[in-house]
Amino acid sequence: MSTSKPAAPSIVQQQAELLDRLPFSDTQDFDDARRGLLGRREPNAITDADGTVVWDNDTYDFLQGDAPDTVNPSLWRQSRLNAIQGLFEVVPGIYQVRGFDLSNVTFIEGDTGVLVLDPLVTEETAAAALALYREHRGDRPVTGVLYTHPHVDHFGGVRGITTQEDIDAGRVPIIAPAEFTEHAASENVYAGTAMARRSAYMFGAALARGPQGQVGTGLSQTVATGNITLIHPTLDITETGQEEIVDGVRMIFQMAPGTEAPAEFLVYFPDRKALCAAEDATHTLHNLLTLRGALVRDAHAWSNYLTETLDLWGDEVEAVFASHHWPTWGNERIVEFLALQRDLYAYLHDQTLRLLNKGFTGPEIAEQIVLPPALENAWHARGYYGSVSHNVKAIYQRYMGWYDGNPAHLWQHPPVEQGKRYVKLAGGVDAVVANAQEAFDGGDFRWAAEVLSHAVFAEPDHAAARDLLADTLEQLGYGAENGVWRNIYLSGATELRSGKFGTPTVSASPDVISALTPEMLFDAIAIQVNGPEAWDEQLTIGVVLTDTDARYRLSLANGALTYSSAAQSGDADVTLTATSRALPALATGGLSADGLAQAGIQVAGDASVLSRLAGVLDPGDPDFSIVTP
Ligand SMILES: [Zn+2]
Repeated sequence: MSTSKPAAPSIVQQQAELLDRLPFSDTQDFDDARRGLLGRREPNAITDADGTVVWDNDTYDFLQGDAPDTVNPSLWRQSRLNAIQGLFEVVPGIYQVRGFDLSNVTFIEGDTGVLVLDPLVTEETAAAALALYREHRGDRPVTGVLYTHPHVDHFGGVRGITTQEDIDAGRVPIIAPAEFTEHAASENVYAGTAMARRSAYMFGAALARGPQGQVGTGLSQTVATGNITLIHPTLDITETGQEEIVDGVRMIFQMAPGTEAPAEFLVYFPDRKALCAAEDATHTLHNLLTLRGALVRDAHAWSNYLTETLDLWGDEVEAVFASHHWPTWGNERIVEFLALQRDLYAYLHDQTLRLLNKGFTGPEIAEQIVLPPALENAWHARGYYGSVSHNVKAIYQRYMGWYDGNPAHLWQHPPVEQGKRYVKLAGGVDAVVANAQEAFDGGDFRWAAEVLSHAVFAEPDHAAARDLLADTLEQLGYGAENGVWRNIYLSGATELRSGKFGTPTVSASPDVISALTPEMLFDAIAIQVNGPEAWDEQLTIGVVLTDTDARYRLSLANGALTYSSAAQSGDADVTLTATSRALPALATGGLSADGLAQAGIQVAGDASVLSRLAGVLDPGDPDFSIVTP
C-alpha cells in the first residue's frame, strides 16, 4: 500500500513560479484579518456535553511561515488568514468571532442587548463564541437573531445563543429572508445523503491536518462536528429596502435570492455605515456550483445584485463584513472590492456565454478563460472555494445542461464498461500503469489520473494502478490553489490507500428534519421507494393533521408514491392522524405501528399497509464508492 509522498519536482517548480508571479508583497489582508482583536480563546478546543472535541482551531498552528512544497503557496496564504481566531471589533458596536467554525458569527450591540447574525454551524461553537464576546463586552442578553441565508453554517448554532422559550415569548425575533425554512430543509432532504458523502471529500473531514493533509477549505478552515439546531424565523424579509429596528438597531435589507443561496439577504446598518455582505462578497471567488453537488447558482443575478449593493450604499459605506473571512474598511477600498467581485461574476458569466455561442463546450471554455489582470491580482478574486474552472462548467451547465452536443457523447458506456474497453485497447492494466507512470514523471497528473481511473474501474483490485492513482491524486492536491480541490484529491488518495471513510459529518439533524413541511416529508419517503420492487404494490395512506386541518392521500402505484391534498372519495387503506409537529416521525422513526404510536401518530385501518410500504423503502448509502467502482 502506498503512503503519503513528497511533492514531485514539477509541483515544486509550480509553487516557486506562483511565489514569483502572485502579489505576495501585498499584505493588507493580514492587517485586516488581525485588526480590532479584543481577545482569543486559548486553548481553542471546543467540546460537546460528552467532552468530545467538536472544534479545535489550534490544530492549524502548523500554518506558520512560508508554504511547504506540498501546499500551493496561494492556498497556504489563504489558510493562514483563515486560521486567525478571536473576537474582533468591526466598528464600534459590531463585533465578530472568527476561527470558531466554518463561518463567522457577528454581534451587533443594541440599546439593551446584542443581536446575533449567523450563529455558526453548531450549538457548542456558537455558545463558545457568545461566551468570548461576553467576556470582553459584558453580559448582554441576546435580543435578536438574523440568518442571512439557509445554509447550515448560518443557523445551525442558534440553540447555543438563545432558547425556544425566548423566541416563543416574543422576546427575541429571528429575522431571515422569505422562504428560509423551506430551503433550509429541502437542501438536506432530496439529495442529502449524496451531498453529505461528497461533503466529506469537499471539506476533508477525514483527512489528517498538516502540510501533506488538510490545510483548510479556502472559505474557512473546516466545519465543526457538534449539534446542528434550527429555530424557525419569526420575521420574514421580503423586499429590498425593507427596514427593521430591533433593540434600537436600524437595519436596511437587500434581497439577493438565487445568488450564493436560493434565499439570501444583505443587510446595511446605516447608523454605523457598516454592510454585511452575507456570502455574496467574500475573499474568494465563490462557488457557482459547489462540488458536493447542488443546484447551479446564477452568476448573472449575482453580479447584478452587487451592482445594486453599490448603488444603494456605495456612497457612504465605511466597513463591509461577511460571514466568512475578514472585513474591508474605508469607502474607496470597499467600492473597489465590491466592484471587482461584481465584475468577476459578470466576466465569467458573459465570457462563458460568448464562447459557448461559438460552439465551445464547458471543459474547453474552462481552459480558455483567463481573468483580466486586475482580477487575477486581487487576492479576494482568486479561486480558493469556487474556481474559474468549475464555475465556468457550472455556467455552461446552467444554460446548456450535461450534453455537449457531440453525438459521440450522447450515449457513452458508463465508467466500468468504459474502463474495461480502454484497458483492453491499451493492452492490459500493466500497460496503462506504465503509460500513467510516464505521464506522472513528466508532471502530466491530469492524464495520469484519467487513464488510471479507467484502470481502477476496470480492475479495482489492481494494486499498482490503485497506488499510482493515489500518488497522482495526491500531487494534484499538492498543486491545487483551491482548498476544496485539494481536499477532494487528498480524500480520493486516502480512500484508495486505506479504504472508505464514509460520511463523517451529520447531514440532517432532528431540528432540520422537524422543519420539513408535510409535502417534503412525503417526498423524502417517495425518493426512497425502490421502483422495481414496488411495481406490483398498490396502497393508499390517508394523513390527517389535527392542528392545521390539512388532509392528504398518499398513493403507491407503478412504483411511484404520490400525494394529493384534494378531497378523495372512499377510505384510504390506513389513516394516520397527527399534529404537524409529530409528523416528522414518519421520516425519523420509521413506519412501524409502535414507532408511530410512540411519536403520537394514531393509526386507523389496515396497519399492515405501513409495513408493506416500509418493505419497499431503500434508503441512501452514506458509504457509497466514489474513487472506485
Ligand atoms: Zn457560509
